[in-house]
Amino acid sequence: MSASIRQAKGTLLLGENFFSIEKAAKIIKEGGLVAFPTETVYGLGAAVTNVEAVNRIFLAKGRPADNPLIVHLSAPGQLTEVANYVPEIAYNLAEQFWPGPLSMVLPRAQNIPAAVCAGLSTVAVRMPDHRVALELIRITGVPIAAPSANRSGKPSPTSFRHVLDDLAGKIDAVIKSKACSVGVESTVLDLTGSIPVILRPGGISREQLEEALGQKVLVSGAIGFAGRPMSPGMKYRHYSPRAPLILITGPEQRRRVLVKSLTDYYQQQGLKVASLSSVIDKTTPLKKRSEHFAANLYHALRQLDFQGVDLILAEETDTAGLGLAVMNRLRKAATKVLKVL
Ligand code: AMP
Ligand code: MG
Repeated sequence: MSASIRQAKGTLLLGENFFSIEKAAKIIKEGGLVAFPTETVYGLGAAVTNVEAVNRIFLAKGRPADNPLIVHLSAPGQLTEVANYVPEIAYNLAEQFWPGPLSMVLPRAQNIPAAVCAGLSTVAVRMPDHRVALELIRITGVPIAAPSANRSGKPSPTSFRHVLDDLAGKIDAVIKSKACSVGVESTVLDLTGSIPVILRPGGISREQLEEALGQKVLVSGAIGFAGRPMSPGMKYRHYSPRAPLILITGPEQRRRVLVKSLTDYYQQQGLKVASLSSVIDKTTPLKKRSEHFAANLYHALRQLDFQGVDLILAEETDTAGLGLAVMNRLRKAATKVLKVL
């Protein structure tokens, strides 16, 4: 059986060679859905101009229609195709961070269907840092609208196996590649106001943005900042494993005591309890810890479900660098947050 006709429940499994990417581009051009690797997580792509295909993304994922998609470009030159106004700051950031995990929110161009942006007058746009993704977009010839390639609410997919676990039989094809290197989604940065606002923390840190711009960057809270709209996706519970996850915050020593006593208590009730921090390797040097946590977080959550764990205990991490994105995902995944004083 040749690589291009291998299937999982009717979903084609494609390789990452040029001919497979050409095949994937053809599927997208004909209105199909293809999951493809990026440096953040796997995306589920449709041609941005094809409203029917875009609507099928929402159906396949079970995604609420008011949660907009990110538009993926193969070159910064395509910015003017998707935004009706591109401020200087966007070109500046594209030059410094693209290709890379930064999505910029800009005024939406007329030719971008409202369904892509959940009816908003803005569009989130990025250029992924992955050879396969860039080739796919370039060969398709139009930007690709793509949210993460998971069932809505589940941890995002960082390997093609995660994609198949969630979407086999619901999408036309998946391009098989290595695990995603960053492991959390892109930073969503709103550039439509006078001060840049991070609507969703992600692969580019607040510190990196502030250094690049030489100015303060704000981080939107769960309810939005100073009247600015939050990222619509942020209002949903997200990134959740099947097992309930308890997030424990507060001083390290006190957290440890609580984790130990909760573990003992629930184990005595016959439950299978796992600590997320012991799944994520603690031997990593402190400086690299948040990158490592980010890269392994979603896989670890999915693994714990696969192992049939009944309860996951997670501890707070430092919010410097990628730690802000990790904490944001843990808070969204948590069924309960316990703060020790
Ligand atoms: P996903 O691709 O699954 O990571 O989801 C895309 C994220 O980008 C969601 O949190 C969306 O709410 C956010 N997003 C996409 N477009 C916009 C926009 N125009 N304004 C604000 N947030 C957006
Ligand atoms: Mg997502």
